[in-house]
Amino acid sequence: STVDRQRQYIAGGTMSLNRAITPSKLFVRAKGAYLYDADGNEYIDYHAGFAPYLFGHGDAEVDEAVIAMIRSGASLIGAGTMPWEAEVAELLVDCVPGIEQLQLTSTGSEAVGYALRLARAHTGRDVVVVMQGGYNGCFDYVSYNLMDPRSFVEDHREGDEYPLSVTTAGVPKVIDQTVRAIEFNDLAAAEKVLAKGDVAAIILEPILQNIGIVKPQPGYLEGLRALCDKYGTVLIFDEVKTGFRHALGGYQALSGVTPDLCTFGKAVANGYPMGVIGGRREIMSLCAHPDPKKRVSVAGTYNGHPVNVAAALACLTRLKTREAEVYGGLERLGARLEAGLKSIFEKRNYPTTIVRQGSAFAVYFMDHAPVNWRDVVMNNDMERDIAYRRALIDNGVFHFPVVTKQGSISLAHTDADIDRTIEITEKVVNSL
Ligand code: PMP
Repeated sequence: STVDRQRQYIAGGTMSLNRAITPSKLFVRAKGAYLYDADGNEYIDYHAGFAPYLFGHGDAEVDEAVIAMIRSGASLIGAGTMPWEAEVAELLVDCVPGIEQLQLTSTGSEAVGYALRLARAHTGRDVVVVMQGGYNGCFDYVSYNLMDPRSFVEDHREGDEYPLSVTTAGVPKVIDQTVRAIEFNDLAAAEKVLAKGDVAAIILEPILQNIGIVKPQPGYLEGLRALCDKYGTVLIFDEVKTGFRHALGGYQALSGVTPDLCTFGKAVANGYPMGVIGGRREIMSLCAHPDPKKRVSVAGTYNGHPVNVAAALACLTRLKTREAEVYGGLERLGARLEAGLKSIFEKRNYPTTIVRQGSAFAVYFMDHAPVNWRDVVMNNDMERDIAYRRALIDNGVFHFPVVTKQGSISLAHTDADIDRTIEITEKVVNSL
């Protein structure tokens, strides 16, 4: 079978979906809010390819822009000879409060890598602080502060000190000396680590969206901003996931807290590979420092690829020209789903909490909205959670079945899709 072939030739199977979770599901097509498996079954999709699909799969406007770019004969000419990068850069600078200058990359992980490099060059310091339970990409420098909460619980049920939970083999030991993890929403912990004076950057998702939806408490982001100013540390918002999902200017525009550097990806190009590292001119301009020893190199064969830039231009133009319609529509769909789910879970004799920010939502099997990673790990009933999401998949609603539990609604979802999701959820919950 295809799955056997994947397992034989692709180390570990394709992506995490087949590796651990749904080996029997092979999706062969996606359109709008739906996924289709090889047997022709349809699934209402809330995984959204790890969240980029703000407009749904195969959005006509974005795809037309991409096809037109390909047909125009645009190719990867390189060496600064392509006019479209400036257009997309101008739009981003115009929309995002924290971006004065930027560079384009192909992925969010690369954007994060460059953000850390810039912060280290700017401060002359090495240490980076990350959030426990945050995710900032797949590379060595920060790739090990997340993943399977079950093994984490077994290892760290007692005590409040977190050793960094390395989730992959092959990470050099030096990383242990240069990356520290603290809990989200804990300003005292942030001050303690920043006060040592050797921290180049603190990087965080302004809403933790890789363990569901964990929101910053009032004053938390403002507090981090003040601490970073006090200790000369670069504040980096990793908006790869929060980015254009919540507002045209990123979550920073909603929160009113402006970071020094910020990274974007995912929704910026509705599923085409594009990342952005941007920020204050003073830091970003290190990319052009006259002294080669002080210059920060940002490179990548596919950076600013015409296909991805065409997709991003189509997305950003639409977001800008129809901002109220887009974000109003996403909020309305989110509220409809939340109300429906609440009415189902209210009747249960076990605790549940639904947390939502616009079109992103998470169901927790615990009695309050979590404040950080430890809270999720210690209090969310993970067994019930996984059983719930697996049963949803079996009944035609696709959520990522394990850790990354955020659901993403797109503008391709209709009221009828939301209502059908609520009906299916009720059936699933009754059978659990
Ligand atoms: N940062 C955050 C907050 C993310 O959610 C992700 C991807 N899930 C990344 C960085 C990495 O982006 P990419 O997968 O495009 O490399």
